Amino acid sequence: TGRLNPDYTFANFIEGKSNSQARAAAQYVVETPGGTYNPLLIYGSSGLGKTHLMHAVGNAICARNSRARIAYVGAEQWINHFIAAIRHGRTDEFKNLYRSVDALLIDDIHFFAHKDRTQEEFFHTFNALIDARKQIVLTSDRYPKEIDGIDERLKSRFTWGLSVAVEPPDLETRMAILIAKAEAAGVPLPKDVALFVAQRVRSNVRELEGALLRLIASSRLRGEPLTVDFARTTLKDLLAAYDRLVTIDNIKRTVAAYFNIRIGDLNSPRRTRSLARPRQIAMALAKELTQHSLPEIGEAFGKDHTTVLHACRKISALRETDLKIREDYENIQRQLGV
Ligand code: ADP
Ligand code: MG
Repeated sequence: TGRLNPDYTFANFIEGKSNSQARAAAQYVVETPGGTYNPLLIYGSSGLGKTHLMHAVGNAICARNSRARIAYVGAEQWINHFIAAIRHGRTDEFKNLYRSVDALLIDDIHFFAHKDRTQEEFFHTFNALIDARKQIVLTSDRYPKEIDGIDERLKSRFTWGLSVAVEPPDLETRMAILIAKAEAAGVPLPKDVALFVAQRVRSNVRELEGALLRLIASSRLRGEPLTVDFARTTLKDLLAAYDRLVTIDNIKRTVAAYFNIRIGDLNSPRRTRSLARPRQIAMALAKELTQHSLPEIGEAFGKDHTTVLHACRKISALRETDLKIREDYENIQRQLGV
């Protein structure tokens, strides 16, 4: 099976609103392995820390009990291992190996889709471990019910214990991650540079980390200090790719399509709720995702800057209290590729 990465610990995992639930659940599993949160399933899109958390669980269990037997394995690796076991007539060995561990960590179980024999085998391993009160931790890029090609009984088992999502980090968390990672690399990162990068690189932690490493490397190489201007120049290609995605026009088009209204409706003075909400969402997105000022955004919507400011505050408040709005907002962000 795979090796646990010693750098993927809880101590190195920066907590924010987007991942605090998953982190808490993972820590709970370390305290009470094989307990009520079994299996623990962490799901969410790529680069958001699922693998990191899974290793953190493994590392922490090992730290508490050096004799604990932990199997960490990617789902693809598990499949290959199983196929090889069949081919060499060693399925008993395979079964014994995975059924005798204290904790089984399987990464990226969406790869089990359409692999019927593997699923069958995993089903039995799963049952054996759960019966023996051994901890299982799984990650997936989607909520299991949404994965095609996975047996229903297995899907339901995946969510028997606790399923927690990791979400894309908000601005504050992105900044915290940048600052912590720079510090770990022994480089003090000025706050304005952290803000600059965090505002522009929004997709996931992996890309954020990549941007930071690029900055640090080229600042060392050229002996230049890390300033906002330096970051702007060094990350030019990367940032251009992001900026291309999110223009006000693109936001308008995406919001209009999402709510099934006309783009012109976003500029109309009509105040019906069915138009006002999408309009406010579009303005709030423009403020969050582009570099345009409030007056510029106002102009693009035929409103003044106080209307834009009001929209931003309104949507920000509603995202906390209104699940539907929050979901709409996040879906549109995703459609915009951020
Ligand atoms: P996933 O498995 O969800 O695709 P990973 O766990 O591989 O994502 O994370 C991608 C990279 O980002 C890793 O280097 C990981 O250490 C880092 N990372 C993700 N989330 C955090 C976090 N909250 N704090 C620190 N590093 C993180
Ligand atoms: Mg992963």
